[in-house]
Amino acid sequence: MTHASAFTRRSLMASALGVGAMAPFAAAAASDPWIGASWRRLTDADWRARLPAESYAVLRHEATEAPFTSPLNREHRRGLFACLGCALPLFRSTWKFDSGTGWPSFFDAIPGALSKKADFAIGVPRTEYHCARCLGHQGHVFDDGPAPTGLRYCNNGVAVTFTPA
Ligand SMILES: [Zn+2]
Repeated sequence: MTHASAFTRRSLMASALGVGAMAPFAAAAASDPWIGASWRRLTDADWRARLPAESYAVLRHEATEAPFTSPLNREHRRGLFACLGCALPLFRSTWKFDSGTGWPSFFDAIPGALSKKADFAIGVPRTEYHCARCLGHQGHVFDDGPAPTGLRYCNNGVAVTFTPA
């Protein structure tokens, strides 16, 4: 298969699944408020030294934690979920719902806290999202979530911290 035909096939799959329509990727690079943040200057070795091993693998190398392993699946208090890499608040507890997937799930995110990109890692188009400040990988967002947004942010528990309100 040539590169061109692979690209066409992926584009068709993406549009068939509606992935292209839900992902506002554009605009991000032009208005990046944290482009000069010190977090962006940390090297891979810096991150490895700062983070627990499981968090490092997810945040910096897009690993996925095993489902049903995060204590945050059972976290039902009011509070804020923040990026474990840089402490930027990402989700409010009032947006958390039980998706049954085994990962902490949210139907909305704090405006501007996340950036998204297309991800073809498993051969099926998905929308990856990451912390907009330190660029640490958080999870994938799908369009099968509950009202009012219809979104499901499927997040790795080891990539966030929870602080009760
Ligand atoms: Zn971060």
